[in-house]
Amino acid sequence: MSGIRARHTRPELAVKKALSQAGFRYGQQSKKLPGRPDFALSRVRCAIFVHGCFWHRHPGCKYAYTPKSNVKFWLDKFDANLRRDKAVRKALRSAGWRVLTIWECRVNERGLARLIRSLKGGPK
Ligand SMILES: [Zn+2]
Repeated sequence: MSGIRARHTRPELAVKKALSQAGFRYGQQSKKLPGRPDFALSRVRCAIFVHGCFWHRHPGCKYAYTPKSNVKFWLDKFDANLRRDKAVRKALRSAGWRVLTIWECRVNERGLARLIRSLKGGPK
């Protein structure tokens, strides 16, 4: 798992760069929001999560594999992660936030362009 953890911050940096290039400002308030989103854009009231495909189980993604040993441990862990993600999204939405998720494997030119489009087209 060390490889997965070591690469963890790179996608977040790419998202950060794309957001600032598109002129979006984000503050530190994300730390106070449920689930501590990676970015919180207060002007458009949108929370963004950069989700690791493995830990958050990107559907149909090759990185969302299940390790062959300790299967029960992993399945329980994934289940807990997904339930927490769902609860977090619900809490944010009921506080009036839009929630966007970008999967790590989609943090590329196309995925970032889509994220920005989605932010620009979203509710004010
Ligand atoms: Zn993925």
